[in-house]
Amino acid sequence: MSQSKFTNFQPEDIDIIISGGDVVTFDERNTVILNGCVAIKGNKILWIGTSAEGELRFHAREKIDARGTIVMPGLIDTHYHTGQQLLRGSLSAIHRRHLSKSPHWKNYYVPFEVGLTPDDVYYSGLAGYTSMISVGTTCFMEAGGPHPDEMGRAAHDVGIRGYIALNTMDFDDTIPHAYRMTTSQALKENEALVKRWEKNELVKASLSLRQLIVSTEELRTGLAHLASQLDTFVHTHLSEGTYEVDYAMEQYSFRPPEYFSRIGLLNSRLHCAHTILMTKSDLDLFAKSGATACHCAFGNYGVGPHQFTAMLERNIPVGLGTDGPGGRCTLDLFEVAHFAVLGQSIVAGMPYHASAIGYEESLAACIRNGAKAARLDKNLGSLSVGKYADIILVGAEDYDQFPVVDPVVTVSQNCVGRDVRTVIVNGRIVMKNREFLTIDIKGMKKAIETQYEDIMRRYHTALRQNNTPY
Ligand SMILES: [Zn+2]
Repeated sequence: MSQSKFTNFQPEDIDIIISGGDVVTFDERNTVILNGCVAIKGNKILWIGTSAEGELRFHAREKIDARGTIVMPGLIDTHYHTGQQLLRGSLSAIHRRHLSKSPHWKNYYVPFEVGLTPDDVYYSGLAGYTSMISVGTTCFMEAGGPHPDEMGRAAHDVGIRGYIALNTMDFDDTIPHAYRMTTSQALKENEALVKRWEKNELVKASLSLRQLIVSTEELRTGLAHLASQLDTFVHTHLSEGTYEVDYAMEQYSFRPPEYFSRIGLLNSRLHCAHTILMTKSDLDLFAKSGATACHCAFGNYGVGPHQFTAMLERNIPVGLGTDGPGGRCTLDLFEVAHFAVLGQSIVAGMPYHASAIGYEESLAACIRNGAKAARLDKNLGSLSVGKYADIILVGAEDYDQFPVVDPVVTVSQNCVGRDVRTVIVNGRIVMKNREFLTIDIKGMKKAIETQYEDIMRRYHTALRQNNTPY
């Protein structure tokens, strides 16, 4: 556009202009604008175009020079455990010494979560959410853990978008008493949590059902009813282990998805992490139900051949998740997307000398289906005018990225979380050139170091009491 068109033109006052980067929108038309510009007003994207036009049209309170970066939507982690953040590296260290006891979540993660104080969870949240921001994740979905209000407080302080949730179990004598609730208490506390956070702009709460084997049918149906009454969803773990499928078959004579469907829980108000051990009919039933899913590619292939590609072919909104840093130790969703491509190639074989799924498709599922899983697809999932300004700038000039022929290829295959330079959530700059503007990182680390020894002492005492090797 020529400058003459803008004679007598008053530039519009806006909050932030991001100019000079290659804009990869991940919208339905896969729009890419080389040397592009994104204009932000308030918490929303006001305009997207070329930098030449944007620089003339707008007068911004803050200008971000995006040259050398790719500008794209923030990533969405659709399955995360705040309460396990400070377990990063622990299970891997145990593996170096001897075999661990399965299932890990019940034998290692639950005893850790039980010992956490509200303060521990607040600092776990600070550590987890800053770790996410630093690798380009701008929205998370907590699976359910202890002291969820502290998660919300930490998310608010970091400036990340997300859903918090309460760990919810009302069954199984092997679960520590302090971590189990009565059914009515579990329903009441879930309802109260959702209501406490419903007016918060950035952080909301969802309902949570830890898993089939640690719940009663009354709790499952009660949560399904609450989800519809409160207009929210239930976050759970589904088809994540052979022990769970065996349990459902023995107790109810159905596989977990069909059982959930028969009691009215498998519907558009259910979000299911893992969904690994799915038969063809499980997948068909899931597709019809409208439920959303999360593929945690770091851990899922250790259990079975996840049907990620088959789920995408059935238009199941399946996003990607890290499952927290307890296993793979990182919250980098770029890496999860890479693992998913490799995993799917192994699951499908390579009869046509091509991968079952492309890198771009995998990362797009993380962004677009992530937004659907978070029930925020009207406002997230692409860089589009009117959507929330949750935007990341990813460096694309490093040794292993040169030359950039097509920014979509570079961002899908050559970028990882640590290439992320600047992160904006809800129109606010949270990290700029890898410096946090919201949190004193040194102070946070110091506070965690002070608490860490005591947290681990409580944890190891619990493991010893359970005769769990560590
Ligand atoms: Zn999980």
